[in-house]
Amino acid sequence: MPLNKKMRIIYRQVILEQAANPKNRGRIEDFDHETTVYNPSCGDKIHLTMKISNNKIEKILFEGSGCTISQASASLMTSLITGKSIDEAVKISKMFSDLAIGKKYPEEEIKKLGDAQVLISIMEFPARIKCATLAWWGLDQMLFGRSEGENND
Ligand code: ZN
Repeated sequence: MPLNKKMRIIYRQVILEQAANPKNRGRIEDFDHETTVYNPSCGDKIHLTMKISNNKIEKILFEGSGCTISQASASLMTSLITGKSIDEAVKISKMFSDLAIGKKYPEEEIKKLGDAQVLISIMEFPARIKCATLAWWGLDQMLFGRSEGENND
């Protein structure tokens, strides 16, 4: 089997697993940041709450509905970001949006995304980029304090 095809099957499995058993689902009662992001072209919706303490992202939870990719992406994003310092979260968020627009990063940097690397493979499919990046856009809004009404459409 060509490596590419094999990788795609692995990616698909990670996505399906995450969507079936999402991590960090719920809502933080005493959150510091909150946002809701929509992807109207697919009908995805994600609500995020985040709690920061000592300059670290202590907790980040999501609720939402939509396609497998959007929900898996939210699960992967929240898992990766939990426990990171704000600086690290900002760097990761920037790298992710750069990758989504086709910028290249060294493999060493990309490895820091862990399981969330699977989302990069989805970026090859233009129709699904918004599904894969929706939760990250929400993270971006919370980190940089963009207005809640804005979305990535
Ligand atoms: Zn979607």
